[in-house]
Amino acid sequence: MKRFDVLVVGAGPAGLAAAHAAMTHGAQVGIVDDNPLAGGQIWRGGADIQPDQRGQRLWNELRDSRRMIFLPQTRVLYSPQPGHLQVQTPEASAALHYNKLILATGARERLLPFPGWTLPGVTGAGGLQALSKGGYPLQGKRVVVAGSGPLLLAAAATLRSKGAHIVAIVEQAATPALLRFGIGLLATPSKITQALHLGTQLRGVPYLRNSYVLSAHGDGTLQSVQIQRTGVPEVETLQCDYLACGYGLLPNVELAQALGCATASHNGQTVVKVGDMQRTTVPDIYCAGEGTGVGGVDLALAEGHIAGLAASGHANEAQEAMGRRAHWRKFADRLARAFALRSELRTLAGDDTIVCRCEDVCHGDLRTHTGWRSAKLQTRCGMGPCQGRICGGATEVLYGWRPDAVRLPISPARIASMIE
Ligand SMILES: Cc1cc2nc3c(=O)[nH]c(=O)nc-3n(C[C@H](O)[C@H](O)[C@H](O)COP(=O)(O)OP(=O)(O)OC[C@H]3O[C@@H](n4cnc5c(N)ncnc54)[C@H](O)[C@@H]3O)c2cc1C
Repeated sequence: MKRFDVLVVGAGPAGLAAAHAAMTHGAQVGIVDDNPLAGGQIWRGGADIQPDQRGQRLWNELRDSRRMIFLPQTRVLYSPQPGHLQVQTPEASAALHYNKLILATGARERLLPFPGWTLPGVTGAGGLQALSKGGYPLQGKRVVVAGSGPLLLAAAATLRSKGAHIVAIVEQAATPALLRFGIGLLATPSKITQALHLGTQLRGVPYLRNSYVLSAHGDGTLQSVQIQRTGVPEVETLQCDYLACGYGLLPNVELAQALGCATASHNGQTVVKVGDMQRTTVPDIYCAGEGTGVGGVDLALAEGHIAGLAASGHANEAQEAMGRRAHWRKFADRLARAFALRSELRTLAGDDTIVCRCEDVCHGDLRTHTGWRSAKLQTRCGMGPCQGRICGGATEVLYGWRPDAVRLPISPARIASMIE
């Protein structure tokens, strides 16, 4: 069994910042991530090859240290007892022991159902971005990027750089909210620079504010989408090969919940509850990054740094990072206000629109239930391989349900991994 002073789950910005702070303060650190390379979502493909110098520096110094072990392609399944995690690699399973645990498990996209959303060719915005970064060919393909939030711009810029033709970016947020958000960027000059850079990369691409996808159409595969623009009576049709559609991000809180950490509601989302030093409600377990609330890379880095200092016994050095964290938390709050979901998105699914893709459960089967538990027991909604990670976010928006207890293992596992 491998033993660590500080074990970090997640090698995104928060996890790398946490591991780096703990490592430089003398701790023996382990980092577990289910991807083959460190970097998480934003630095996908390797933190060391990103233009962002922060990713390069963190990863290069961690990689060169004898006090850090990276366990790639390793997924945490459950905790057999306090201080232990059971993990699975493609070949084997193993038990890891820790004195302090830092959860930096990030976030995932929120997908919402509308007629045609299960057609081949309809993906998440970040999902298609991730595929393209992994080499999926998009040269010459017509892509509509839709949903909500700044990720749409980042995804569209990546897809365009891979040769895709971006037909339009369809943003559901209303123009006044976007204007307020734009003015608020004055408080974060680095984000203005980023926005200008994205603007240059996306020059000529129509950005349709106050608009949303009504339905996707095609004979066996996607051929067009219908969109509604507020204030325009006619429905507009856009011909495309792909629809990359995501409605913001949802914190990954399942592992924290499985370990007994309390959650809270913040900006309308379920997040892991943490104190000033990123401590959860369970002794020796910390959480940093998007699991505590969606706020972007700068907030993730600040929180990770604080968690790493606290876990390695140097909480007194966290003042500077606490200032950064307070600054970026305000940005996160502005982000949540600007891109709050409009009520029309709850009305798009028809009775025959699938909501739970794993178990083929439709809106008509679900809408008469009073809560997640009753729907799950009677329709099998949320009981497939994704364990409600996709449909849970959708049923929260559609019906106001919150998924209940987390079932172990937290992700699909080989039987051998469970009985070893
Ligand atoms: C699909 C997607 C694409 C994004 N693209 C961009 C972008 O282009 N630009 C941008 O500014 N922001 C982007 N973001 C937002 C970005 O994720 C955050 O700003 C920032 O990276 C969050 O850092 P983090 O460390 O909290 O989480 P992440 O970067 O998400 O890192 C979390 C890591 O934990 C791992 N993990 C989770 N659970 C387990 C487990 N049980 N076992 C093992 N490993 C686990 C994940 O695989 C992941 O590598 C994207 C988000 C998503 C979801």
